[in-house]
Amino acid sequence: MTTLPKILVVDDDADTRNLLVCALEQQTFEVITAATGFEGLSTVMCETVDVVLLDALLPDIDGFECCRVMHRRLQQDCPPVLIVTGLSDESSVNKAFNARATDFITKPVNLSVLCHRIKRVLRERQLFHELADTNVRLQQISHTDDLTSLANRRFFQTMLNQEWRRLTREQAPLGLLLCDLDFFKQFNDTYGHLEGDRCLQTFAEILQSCTERPADLVARYGGEEFVLLLPNISMGGLAAIDRKIRARLRACAIPHRNSGVDEIVTYSAGGVTLLPTATTRSDSLVDQADKALYRAKGEGRNRLVRAVHHLNLT
Ligand code: GH3
Ligand code: MG
Ligand code: MG
Repeated sequence: MTTLPKILVVDDDADTRNLLVCALEQQTFEVITAATGFEGLSTVMCETVDVVLLDALLPDIDGFECCRVMHRRLQQDCPPVLIVTGLSDESSVNKAFNARATDFITKPVNLSVLCHRIKRVLRERQLFHELADTNVRLQQISHTDDLTSLANRRFFQTMLNQEWRRLTREQAPLGLLLCDLDFFKQFNDTYGHLEGDRCLQTFAEILQSCTERPADLVARYGGEEFVLLLPNISMGGLAAIDRKIRARLRACAIPHRNSGVDEIVTYSAGGVTLLPTATTRSDSLVDQADKALYRAKGEGRNRLVRAVHHLNLT
């Protein structure tokens, strides 16, 4: 069953309320009413209303003030407010639109025009919501890696800069673990690209499962390289996460007969923890992790190498 759009009529005159209720119900709207500004305010706060028809002259607060308060309290959730009034002077019109009214309709009301205006406002509102939803979806897509559903490099970069600034203020350490699968080109050559994709997905799931704090971020840095951004962590904590990842990947025992290491998939990692400062750049964190990762490859792969300048916190 589809729900009808709900219209709130706020008017102190019972005849006007009844007239509007009759006309609107015939147009398949659900109509509720309030006789004062405060009653109207409490109704929009408690119920989902799609459009408000608001009289300007009310016994308690006037319609302009009432409209302003509705917008202030409900912000983007405020329904469109149409001021319906006997006033037609320029000052009243300006007051209404300055109070963020969507439209201004003079009494005596032409009911047919009123219904068309309500329908137009509802259509616009619907389009606005669809646009807002689409924007949220697009933003998610622009932050996400297609293959693994992890954050992508762009989002990682944004979060790195954000955390760098935050931890500079808080004078707390920021950790980074850069992981790169070993001999992955050979994996593709041996098992095919599709199997390679599945291996990347499995590794992504393992990485995600090994972080616990809400501020931790796992991202695909590119190809078969992944990065963990770990705020407020010591090198000991970072090494413990690396051990957890290693244990889970080993438990999966993904065959890799050309890896040279136990014939299963392994990875190498570079780890760093730093106290961010206002005079150093966030790139230095990635830079140091990258150099450590390079050494891990050189020293035989399947290991974590700590950056030389890491913070020695326990
Ligand atoms: P190393 O141990 O030194 O890291 O060797 P490697 O072979 O892993 O490194 P290299 O950089 O030579 O090769 C990376 C490989 O990762 C090559 C590329 O085909 C593969 N790769 C990158 N992105 C994807 C992807 O999305 N899917 C698949 N299946 N493979 C990918
Ligand atoms: Mg590799
Ligand atoms: Mg690589």
